[in-house]
Amino acid sequence: MQADLFSEQQPPKLNQLGHSRIQYKEVGTILNKTSGFMADYDYSLNPYSGCAFGCTYCYAAFFARDTVAQENWGYWVDVKANALALLKKYRSKPITGKTVYMSSVTDPYQPIERKIELTRELLKELLHYHQPRLVIQTRSPIVTRDIDLLQQFQHLQVNMTITTDSEEVRKVFEPLCPGNKARLAAIKEVAAAGVQACITMTPLLPVEEPHAFAQSLLDTGISKFIIQPFHPDRGRFTAGTREEAKQLVRKYGWTAERYSEVEGIIKSYIPDLGIGKEGFQPI
Ligand code: SF4
Repeated sequence: MQADLFSEQQPPKLNQLGHSRIQYKEVGTILNKTSGFMADYDYSLNPYSGCAFGCTYCYAAFFARDTVAQENWGYWVDVKANALALLKKYRSKPITGKTVYMSSVTDPYQPIERKIELTRELLKELLHYHQPRLVIQTRSPIVTRDIDLLQQFQHLQVNMTITTDSEEVRKVFEPLCPGNKARLAAIKEVAAAGVQACITMTPLLPVEEPHAFAQSLLDTGISKFIIQPFHPDRGRFTAGTREEAKQLVRKYGWTAERYSEVEGIIKSYIPDLGIGKEGFQPI
C-alpha cells in the first residue's frame, strides 16, 4: 500500500515526474497557523512544497527558499515525507471544528499526488480522527479521485480555480496546469456527487468572451463563486513566461477598467459573487 510509505516505511523514490524534480524532505510541522490573506483560518495544510503547476504569477514562488528555487518554480516539488506521521500526532488533541485551508502554497492535487496519494492519506486521517471545517483549493481534476472521501466530511468545500476562458492565456500564465475544460468538468463532477463546491476566479486573467464564460460557469450547476483581480502592473512573474505574460496582458488590454467591465458582466450572471478575501471566509 502506498499509504504506509508515509507512516512506517520509507517514501517511494521517485526522483523525477514529468518536468518536475522530486525530493522527499522531513518538515517540523504539518498544520501551520495562518496569517495574512488566510488569517481567518486556523491552519493551512500543505502536503508539498513547490508546485509542478508553476503558475507564472504564483505568489508562493516568491517565498521559495532561494533565488534558484524561485527561478525554477514549477520544476521542483518537495514531498513532505513525514506529513502523515506529524498529523497522526494530533489524534490526542483533535482539531475537530477547526478551519483548515489545503493548500496555501502548493496544489494538493498536482501530478505527484496521483502516484503517491499523500493528500488522500491526509484526508483519511482528517476524516476519521478530526472532522475539521476543510477547504480544498486546487486547479486539478485529480481531486475527483477522492470524491468517496470528500462526501464523508461534515464540513468541506472544494474550490476549483478557473482564471480565464482562453487557452492562449492559460498556456502563458499557467503553462503547466490542466486546461480550462478539464477543470470545469472536474468541479461539475464534484458538485454532482453532493460535495459543496466553489469556483474561484482568483485571479481573473484576461477573458475572451465574458458572457459565454459566465454562462459556462453557471452550467456547472455550482452556485458559489469568488473573484479577485489580477494586477499586471503590480505583478511579479516567475521566470520563463514573464515577458510573454506581460505582452498578453497588453494584447488583451487587461487594464483595471477592463477588469471592472468584465467583473460587471460576470456579476450580471452571478449576482452573489464573493469578492477577494471576503469570499474566502472559512466555511
Ligand atoms: S497551482 Fe497554486 S501553488 Fe501551484 S503554482 Fe499555481 S498558484 Fe502556485
